[in-house]
Amino acid sequence: MIELRTPREIEEMRPAGRFIADVLLACRDAAKPGVNLLEIDALAHRMIKDRGATSCYIDYHPSFGAMPFGKVICTSVNDAVLHGLPHDYALQDGDLLSLDFAASVDGWVADSALSVVVGQAPDAQRAAGDKKLITTTEEALAAGIAAATVGHKIGDISAAIAEVGHAAGYDINTDFGGHGVGRTMHGDPHVPNDGRAGRGFPLKPGLVIAIEPWFLETTDEIYTDPDGWTLRSADGSRGAHSEHTIAITADGPVVLTER
Ligand code: MG
Repeated sequence: MIELRTPREIEEMRPAGRFIADVLLACRDAAKPGVNLLEIDALAHRMIKDRGATSCYIDYHPSFGAMPFGKVICTSVNDAVLHGLPHDYALQDGDLLSLDFAASVDGWVADSALSVVVGQAPDAQRAAGDKKLITTTEEALAAGIAAATVGHKIGDISAAIAEVGHAAGYDINTDFGGHGVGRTMHGDPHVPNDGRAGRGFPLKPGLVIAIEPWFLETTDEIYTDPDGWTLRSADGSRGAHSEHTIAITADGPVVLTER
């Protein structure tokens, strides 16, 4: 079921969006060579407790999950791109880290993600490849948000994302994409990262969705790590991910998780 929020409810969602942005920035800044993924998770967990927020991840146990997630942030490194389960790993120079974070504040959820290169890349080719991946996901996100206007349809967002990804030479996986956000983390509608313009649910004022392009360098196939959660590229190539929660309003899209 697709739910629409009143302008007042959208205002009530802003603190959740701001909190998610604050945590992502703090975790991004903490992600230095030598820092363990478990320390980043602990930082996010401390911020959740200090804010009186509720983690969307720690007890998350969907049908495809082997067990409850047990952590509060997704940390996906290099060939991992989504749902990265924080584990005992110290970040190294040149790691491509994607952070995905969702939590509930005052009963409203927001969801956002970013990718960053840790420290210094080992060589110029690697640096250029990672920069292109990250920049393309960010540009695809911006294009998707720009298409999220009243009068358009979900397919217009999907097509705008895919146009940017394809122009950069990336294949696109549509198994995991954006989604409705509200009282819970995942609701209708699904917002695929590829699709046909002019198709799908019509965008109406009050629709709140997460838009989240993610691309892999040389494949669109993924597999699940033995940890039961982390999604990795089939060919070992690197991935990047960029996500915001936005509200569609008569005045245009409002980015609730703006950093
Ligand atoms: Mg997310």
